[in-house]
Amino acid sequence: MNPEVHERACRLIDAWHVEGISAPEGEWLDAHLAECTACRGRARANERVLQALRSNTVTVDPALVSRTQARVRLRSRELRENQVRMRALWISCALSWVLGVASAPLVWRAFQWVGLRAALPNLVWKTAFALWWLLPAGAVAALLARQRRHAANQDGYTTLHR
Ligand SMILES: [Zn+2]
Repeated sequence: MNPEVHERACRLIDAWHVEGISAPEGEWLDAHLAECTACRGRARANERVLQALRSNTVTVDPALVSRTQARVRLRSRELRENQVRMRALWISCALSWVLGVASAPLVWRAFQWVGLRAALPNLVWKTAFALWWLLPAGAVAALLARQRRHAANQDGYTTLHR
């Protein structure tokens, strides 16, 4: 048989399930399938694949879809708010550092004056001066650690309650 005949049959088999074929094309295809085992096999294989696809349709609960959308929106808002909070924190850190550097000579003299007045050993008032510098940074580090722990807990919660 002419290979173009089988090609036409294949095209019609594919088109049959997608866009449909005309009545004369259908009659021609039926006649061809009656005498050609290769094209009949192809038509049956197509039919089986389509049946399998039809039986595997997944229905998604609309409530689940809206819950998921709400969660995604909530999470994106949280991330935005967190970004704003972190920016404010970095700005206040930078300001604090600039003020700390600018005021360091005055603070040094104040600690020295108190140390001399109270007859403290140099090591004591110098340590107090160092702590004066370290405490704000320590407070910020503790705040960041707390926030990170909180975020990790929330992620854990989200993972558990999905
Ligand atoms: Zn054929």
